[in-house]
Amino acid sequence: MSCIFCQIATGKIDSEIVYQDEQVVAFRDLNPQAPVHILIIPREHITNLDGASAANAALLGHCALVAAEIARAEGFAEGGYRLVTNVGPDGGQSVDHLHFHLLAGRRMHWPPG
Ligand code: 5GP
Ligand code: ZN
Repeated sequence: MSCIFCQIATGKIDSEIVYQDEQVVAFRDLNPQAPVHILIIPREHITNLDGASAANAALLGHCALVAAEIARAEGFAEGGYRLVTNVGPDGGQSVDHLHFHLLAGRRMHWPPG
């Protein structure tokens, strides 16, 4: 198993986990791009959104709702946050296991770089 995020999901690689259940794991990014930078991943290895299908619809929705729940639990929901997933080279994806970046704690720029 060479996928870093699969190894984080199974505990083979250490990470600072902030939430987990039977479907998803959320952990702090090693190289944070904002005061709060959390990654939400499905336990199932899916490469990215392009590799997802209708069978994954509930799982994808769960990832988004977990992000919203973490934002409320950590107290930044009211101030706002950004939830983003990068897909492929043009999207800036560097780890080929579907993940959502939850960014908060500073004012985000638009358009993104
Ligand atoms: P991407 O560039 O694919 O959208 O995002 C991958 C993210 O994973 C990056 O923000 C990077 O800092 C983070 N990352 C890569 N390897 C590790 C790791 O081993 N542990 C943690 N916690 N984050 C990682
Ligand atoms: Zn994986």
